[in-house]
Amino acid sequence: MSNRKQELADNLAATKEHISAIAAEHDRPSPQLLVVTKFHPAEDIALLAELGVEDVAENREQEARAKAQKLDQLRFHMIGQIQTKKANHVARWAASVHSVDSVKLANALDRGVSLAKERGQRESNLPIFIQVSADGDTSRGGAVREELDEVIEAAEAAEHLEFAGLMVVPPLDADAQEVFSTVRADVDRLSERLGRQLKLSAGMSADMDAAIAAGTDIVRVGTSIMGKRPVG
Ligand SMILES: *Cc1c(COP(=O)(O)O)cnc(C)c1O
Repeated sequence: MSNRKQELADNLAATKEHISAIAAEHDRPSPQLLVVTKFHPAEDIALLAELGVEDVAENREQEARAKAQKLDQLRFHMIGQIQTKKANHVARWAASVHSVDSVKLANALDRGVSLAKERGQRESNLPIFIQVSADGDTSRGGAVREELDEVIEAAEAAEHLEFAGLMVVPPLDADAQEVFSTVRADVDRLSERLGRQLKLSAGMSADMDAAIAAGTDIVRVGTSIMGKRPVG
């Protein structure tokens, strides 16, 4: 095994073990692990696939699209902010989108999926998570609480989207545990309202323990597995 493959194998094993241990400690089911590969080369992602990884996440459309074209054995998920004009592209390659934060974007993705289906580039509906802004500062993405219901309505009404849950990134100065617990409660309340179980996408390398303790369903982990991101 190459050094890099060994390193990824070790990090992956350690991270999975850590996730299980924290989940067990809090009497929670182990969340799904989404490996965040942004900025890292396609070669690394190919190694992850050899190690059994099936789902990876990216945050920039062009970079993700290029990688997804090269590596069609993996599912690529979009976790970064999306310009509306890029929605058609995302609709072609994304297995899910975790960063829907406006009615406009939900509608653009719906049209994009419709178009991709027409052209034979996609068969399935697109699962989407609505990203919520915990503090009302939307510069890093996320819908504010007052807008949440209308984005959910748009997602539910969209023929080609499946509203799958909520995503959150705690603001830097926030109490992560409190943010995760609040959004977990939102997910559960919405699940009740819609009559089906929605999911919470929360937790990154630095704050996954708090997210798992709060009962997250999906953690998005980059640095702990891939190492520090190369610049650029
Ligand atoms: C980069 C990123 C992650 C992973 O962050 P790490 O600190 O590298 O684990 C998770 N979620 C989002 C939205 C990201 O942009």
